[in-house]
Amino acid sequence: MFEKIAKGIYMLQTDERVCSTIYMLDGGKEGKAIIDSGDGKVLLDFEPKMCILTHGHYDHTRGVEESWKEVYLHPEEKKDAPFIFVPKNAKALEWKKKKFGEFELEIFHTPGHTMGSVCIFERKSGILFSGDTKFSGGEHGRTDLQGSDELMQESLALIEKIPYKLLCPGHDGIEEREK
Ligand SMILES: [Zn+2]
Repeated sequence: MFEKIAKGIYMLQTDERVCSTIYMLDGGKEGKAIIDSGDGKVLLDFEPKMCILTHGHYDHTRGVEESWKEVYLHPEEKKDAPFIFVPKNAKALEWKKKKFGEFELEIFHTPGHTMGSVCIFERKSGILFSGDTKFSGGEHGRTDLQGSDELMQESLALIEKIPYKLLCPGHDGIEEREK
């Protein structure tokens, strides 16, 4: 079940370690948006209006259904890298800012874990959805799956400059930023 983490923002974590956390933003009349779709074993009881994928690893993307109309993945994601699964209906994530209901979403390209990894910043709540780039406890994602350690360091430095208050990563728990 989705658990509320901020006004209109929810998270769904499963016991299964490999499946990504699914975040849901309730845009009211605009419908619901999700960030990452899980590995496909978790079925949603609604059709998201929009799905933003933090990167192409199958544990984040296999839950995408063919009927979903707005599914975004960064165009630099390497389709031939290990563990990548690109849904057929995924479009290139080329916009940088978007309003969705009350939310203001900003995309930051943060390569390192994969080449097409992104973080999504929701300015009003101060939440950063960091995918597998940055985890709670100061950890970062692995860079040996056709990612890059050098790019990871640059991306982590970029993340430091984003004025987020709550980190919501692709696995394990969320974490308030230290002041
Ligand atoms: Zn990953």
